[in-house]
Amino acid sequence: MFEFTDVYRSEEPQRLNSALIIDADDTLWPCQEFHDVAKAKFASLVAGELNISEEYIIQKFTLIRLYKIPKYWFGPSQFTASLVEAYESLCLERNCVIKNDMQAAVIDIGNTVRQPIPQFYEGVEDSLIKLSKRGYFLVLLTAGPKQYQELKIIESGAGELVDAYEIVNAKSEDTFSNVMNKYYIDPKTSFSIGNSAKSDILPSLKAGLSAIWIRKGNWAYENNFETLELEKFKDNYKTVRDFPDVLQHIPHRIRIKLQY
Ligand SMILES: [Mg+2]
Repeated sequence: MFEFTDVYRSEEPQRLNSALIIDADDTLWPCQEFHDVAKAKFASLVAGELNISEEYIIQKFTLIRLYKIPKYWFGPSQFTASLVEAYESLCLERNCVIKNDMQAAVIDIGNTVRQPIPQFYEGVEDSLIKLSKRGYFLVLLTAGPKQYQELKIIESGAGELVDAYEIVNAKSEDTFSNVMNKYYIDPKTSFSIGNSAKSDILPSLKAGLSAIWIRKGNWAYENNFETLELEKFKDNYKTVRDFPDVLQHIPHRIRIKLQY
């Protein structure tokens, strides 16, 4: 793996020409779809038990999950905790007894989203190797529980394919600025790549980077208002259908103004 410190021994490090700050979940490997499957199983289980519509159950869960994110952030444990809380809250609403076996079943469903050895989307590994060979400095930037995200980065092999990785609670404009400062990345020639308008695209554009939006794995956390805000930057981002397409859109060491 590339050792950053070996290259930048100089006291006045030069800015890198082109860097890619790449998201992990739902950009390099699937993640949201496991949550969607788990939510559907949860809704089906609880609907049968409490005689409530699955739609209402999902709604209740989503409200609880969104409410907890600013304090507890992301990760399988928090997802599972929100499922359990949603079940308990629905029981209280319906004056039903909270059952231990139901709680255990809900926890089992929550645990299915744990993917400690993620599998890359097709073409991702090859793309990362090619982008690295073309001279891009590759930084993986992911949000979630540090230990769990790090395990996924290492077990997937992504850690060996990038120059550096950073794990944060959530991504903001400051997060991208901090990463750029830490690795001497010039925003004028660098890109953020990710699936989330709210986490990967909008904050990176605000920090001065260009961005490539891969539309995968969206959920209620992506609220419309923030996505609409992207319109302000419409000359500066592009949507691509698959990660391998990135290669076609970014000529080596040439900054292009990305358009629809
Ligand atoms: Mg993502």
